[in-house]
Amino acid sequence: MIGQRDTVNGAHFAFTDRWGGVSAVPYEELNLGGAVGDDPAAVTANRELAAKTIGVDPARVVWMNQVHGAGVAVVDGPWGEDPAPRVDAIVTAERGLALAVLTADCVPVLLADPVAGVAAAAHAGRPGMVAGVVPAAVRAMTGLGADPARIVARTGPAVCGRCYEVPETMRAEVAAVEPAAYAETSWGTPALDVSAGVHAQLERLGVHDRAQSPVCTLESHDHFSYRRDRTTGRLAGYVWLD
Ligand SMILES: [Zn+2]
Repeated sequence: MIGQRDTVNGAHFAFTDRWGGVSAVPYEELNLGGAVGDDPAAVTANRELAAKTIGVDPARVVWMNQVHGAGVAVVDGPWGEDPAPRVDAIVTAERGLALAVLTADCVPVLLADPVAGVAAAAHAGRPGMVAGVVPAAVRAMTGLGADPARIVARTGPAVCGRCYEVPETMRAEVAAVEPAAYAETSWGTPALDVSAGVHAQLERLGVHDRAQSPVCTLESHDHFSYRRDRTTGRLAGYVWLD
């Protein structure tokens, strides 16, 4: 259910794995994505199960309509009847409001300044990392009073640089923007390490309290991987402040 979680000065971070939910094959078991073809009732049940397991109110979890961009929305409560906006980062200064990001190989990024009471969740795949969704989220946080020196950053399970094979030209284009993302597969072909790129961006922004999940989604059968399975579920990362 919850593969990894930790708490720092009242800032909570949690990442799910694929087990403990009610979805059927190929979304078994804990699919949290609402746009991947799974039964909506199963997704709702899974979201309630995950929220209760981490100790948050399912009605106080904010989701995004992720589009691989760098858009950021500031939120102070759930969207209600409105559709979730097409953004890849959400930021809040509302304590007790949980922000959620969905992934299956992309990098889920959770950020919190426990002193300022500002949190953010971001979805950083290759396009989002290149477009700067993580720096955009940090800028939105500082606009609400956060200090990068106090921001705690956690990145969750994602496809690793030894597995994420890309064409040579794509690696060159991405590395021109973010050199830290340059990688090679375990079989010696061009690759990208998006997590390394995200961490390099955070380091340059002055966010030094960081941790990266050791899990590679493509290698772990306890996690959903789009590159491995194509039709599959979505993992979630959650961040919230006491
Ligand atoms: Zn890997």
